[in-house]
Order: sequence, then structure tokens, then C-alpha cells
Amino acid sequence: MKNIYDYTLEELEEYFISIGEKKFKAIQLFEWLYKKRVDDFDLMSNIKIDTLNKLKSEFEIGKLEIIKKQEDKDVVKYLFNLNDNNKVEAVLMLHDYGNSLCVSTQVGCNMGCSFCESGRLKKVRNLSTYEMVMQILKIEEDLNLRISHVVLMGIGEPFDNYDNVIRFIKIINSGKGIDIGARHITVSTCGIVPKIEEFIKDGNQINLAISLHAPNNEIRDKIMKINKVYKIEELIKVLKKYIEKTNRRVTFEYILLDNVNDSKECAIELSKLLKGMNCYVNLIPYNETSHIEYKKSSKEKIMNFYDTLKKNNINVTIRREFGSKVDAACGQLRANYEEAI
Ligand code: SAH
Repeated sequence: MKNIYDYTLEELEEYFISIGEKKFKAIQLFEWLYKKRVDDFDLMSNIKIDTLNKLKSEFEIGKLEIIKKQEDKDVVKYLFNLNDNNKVEAVLMLHDYGNSLCVSTQVGCNMGCSFCESGRLKKVRNLSTYEMVMQILKIEEDLNLRISHVVLMGIGEPFDNYDNVIRFIKIINSGKGIDIGARHITVSTCGIVPKIEEFIKDGNQINLAISLHAPNNEIRDKIMKINKVYKIEELIKVLKKYIEKTNRRVTFEYILLDNVNDSKECAIELSKLLKGMNCYVNLIPYNETSHIEYKKSSKEKIMNFYDTLKKNNINVTIRREFGSKVDAACGQLRANYEEAI
């Protein structure tokens, strides 16, 4: 059976037209699902019984089960069980500017970045749109709060699940739905160039973040397999096009790995690479995991890297360390859960 949370407002409008109903019914349905959070067709009192019966014969209202929850003072990490018993995680971060949810987009990941826990489990499958939407609905219900920001930085490569991810974004961005502003939604990719091209054509206002993690092909080849397919030059070229077309700023994520990519030379080379681009660099202290031998850079090295970028007029911030106590690095909670059982 189809799942109702898989459908955008436009698609539901088409559905209602196809069964000979007025298209505004789609708005009513959307409001029941996302404004009033009703998950039972029978409670949708302004929709006629025979329309509800048609809906019930075609769609189900999906569920998602929370199987583990770990809390630290400003982070709550969730593990969900999917209908086929695969597990995915989502991490809620409580900032002073709002509540930001890090959403997973796939079960496992095929990108194979050497420092990342998610890639140890090869991609099992893409998440459906509804499985992403439900991460938000369930956590809002569980904690009785509203999520103001969404980052697609959990397990998986969003641009390797492009269509479902774009429909997910449309649903959560819709004013008739969850209503999270486009500028409060960030999609993060390891750099699948043709999908960035497609993203440019789609012309939306979503923030784009790129996991760069190296200033040159030599280092990037070693830590990110995707660089063997799309070289840094190609990536930078498409991002310049993105900036030109959208007038938006690109975020570069850069994990600092001890003695791998954190030298002063690397910082200088990175400054040259990004010179004049409308961008900023988010330096990420590496979250060490027991399965992977990389070490995080020392505070001093992180500060030196930061200073070098600053001196070279690159906008730069250091990401606050969230959730190392609750295994919040990509894929860690799932990995540790599977080991414990
Ligand atoms: N596949 C997408 C989104 C998921 S990863 C991407 O590559 O952007 C989200 C971010 O977390 C990426 O920048 C990734 O490189 C980073 N990351 C992965 N493992 C990490 C760890 N152990 N510590 C810190 N950041 C990590």
C-alpha cells in the first residue's frame, strides 16, 4: 500500500483531481497530517466519508518506531526501527537559535569515506520520503517541541537518493505542511557533481554544504572515494556555477584529522582553492570512533588552521562539538547498537 507521507501537496492535488474531487481537499488532508498531526483517517472530520474510504483503500498512514533514545544536555539521539527491521538514526541538537534535526537519508552508505562510520555498512537501501518525514514527526511528538532547522547530514548520501530527498524537502518546506523555511534546511553532499547540476536547475533556496575535507586531490583521493570520480577542480567549478546562478553562499565542511589534512600547508592551499568564492568553511573537530584509527587534531592545531584561513580572508567557523558522549558522529549509534545485541 502507498504511504500518505510519501506525497507532496502537488501530488495529492493531482490525486484528488484524478478521483473527481476538488484539489483543495489536498490542503485539508495536508493540514490534518502536518498541522494537527492526526494519524487516523477516521478523525479527519471535514473530509466526506466516501472520500475517506477512497483514501483508506489507497493509502496507509505510516508509523515509525523509536527503539533507542540517548540524551545529553543539548543533544538527543534517536534510533528508529524501519518496517523491514533496518535501523536508522537521527540527532536533535538544541541550539540557542532553535532545534536542529540531523536526518538520515539512507540505510548505510556507498560513498566509502575512510573516516566515517556510516560507510562501514554498505548501502542497504534508500530511505523513502515518508521514512525521512517521520523522523521529524516522531521526534516532535516525543519531546513535544518544534524542530526549526533540518540538516541532511545523518547516515547516507542525500544526492544518492535525490528524488526522495527533494520530495521530503518539499513536504517539510510547504506552508501547509511542517513549514520549515528553505533557508533553515541544509543538504550536505560529498560532491556528486551531476546531482549538484540538477540541484542548480531545480532552483530552490535550500542551503548547500559540501564535505570537502581536503585541499587537494592527493589527500582527498585517500580519504574520500568519490574524489576518484569527481575531482576537486570539477567540484569547485560546479559550485562556482551554483553561486553564480543562485547568489547563495556555499558551506564547506572540513573535518580536521590529525596529521592527515590539518597542517599549515593544507590551510594555505585551502585558502588558495577557495579564494574569492562566496563561501565559508566549517571546521569540524573529528569525532573519534572505536573502529577507525584516525585521531582528532589537537585544539592548538585546530586554532592554527583557523587562524591561517582567517588571515587569508576565508570566512571560517569551528563547529561546536555536539554529542560525542551520545555517539553522535555519523552512524555511531547504529553501529554500537548492532554490536550490543
Ligand atoms: N553524505 C553526506 C552527508 C552525511 S555525512 C556528506 O558527505 O556530506 C555529514 C557530515 O559528517 C559530513 O561532512 C561527514 O564527512 C561528517 N562526518 C562523518 N563522520 C564523522 C566523524 N566521525 N566526525 C565528524 N564528522 C564526521
